[in-house]
Amino acid sequence: MSEMTTSSRSRVLAGPDVFERICEEILRRERFLLTSHARPDGDSIGSQLAMAYALDALGKQVRLVNADAAPDHYREFPGLDRIEIAERCDAEADALIVMECSDLTRTGVSGLEGHYIINIDHHAGNRMYGALNWFDESAAACGEMVFDLIRALGVSLTREIATHIYLAILTDTGSFHHSNITPRTFDICRQTVEAGVNPAAMARRVFDSNSFGKLKLIGALLNAMELTDNGHLAVLAIDDDMLAACGCTHNDTEGVINLPLTAREIQAVVFFKVVASGDVRVSMRSKYDVDVRLVASEHGGGGHRNAAGFTVPGPLAEVRPQIIARLGKAIAEGMHRQEDDE
Ligand code: AMP
Ligand code: MN
Repeated sequence: MSEMTTSSRSRVLAGPDVFERICEEILRRERFLLTSHARPDGDSIGSQLAMAYALDALGKQVRLVNADAAPDHYREFPGLDRIEIAERCDAEADALIVMECSDLTRTGVSGLEGHYIINIDHHAGNRMYGALNWFDESAAACGEMVFDLIRALGVSLTREIATHIYLAILTDTGSFHHSNITPRTFDICRQTVEAGVNPAAMARRVFDSNSFGKLKLIGALLNAMELTDNGHLAVLAIDDDMLAACGCTHNDTEGVINLPLTAREIQAVVFFKVVASGDVRVSMRSKYDVDVRLVASEHGGGGHRNAAGFTVPGPLAEVRPQIIARLGKAIAEGMHRQEDDE
């Protein structure tokens, strides 16, 4: 594996021929199974469905399987009903394409191990679990990588494909907020808009589709928000009572974590979610050089510098102070570097 030394970002860090090999293997195989990570987000759904429509265009057989249903506001995007929801999948396929997963267990679907696996991902720390592993940390979204692949396969950018690529980029850049955006991100977006994507309509569908219950939930969460580290860290936590009072489910918490970052002083946000098993799911977001991925990786999780997560056993009262202290350090370091840069 080589270090990133050229501007042809697609092939670096994954072995020189992997991109061409993936194209060849896709073209010569017939039956594909596509999957992505549990609790899918816009990038996983967008990458998966863009890939599915491209494989359709090539005349391939395609099945899609995920562990969890997509959040409600993605349901009206084209092809969402094609995704089977299952904890186990014994489908036969000539290749399994896994997108957005640093590890096969991230799919949350069992029974996938025996397949010929094509691994396409942009999360640091990818375990290279496939027969072919294309890993590109510099991609702002996995959808950017899928875009490259689709074009290399000779498939034209239909409206459906463009919609899903744009969805992937719009959501994984935190609606063009995160530090992973490059000129290429906009170049791809430009092409999707030329193919019929309406950015205003997309933003409305993705970000302005809250239920009243969710608005109430946002109010309750922000009201209970704790500020630490001189107001640089915001701490959110949800429990079942709060969800029930607003008539919401855990799905309704999607995106809420980004709201505290709109306050100028806040450098990072941590959101604790106690799930049914008693485990605590920890989501983190940050600005600039505050590296929350490092914190996630110390707890067996992953993600990106400005958006990362992990799951640990509870109880919350034990986990919470440790993580807050660790994030305080990350903020002190990241802010220091920011000042150096200025
Ligand atoms: P979330 O806070 O769940 O929206 O996740 C933010 C980012 O962290 C996404 O890129 C996720 O794929 C990644 N991430 C979240 N939880 C985990 C985990 N347990 N293991 C690896 N990556 C994770
Ligand atoms: Mn992603």
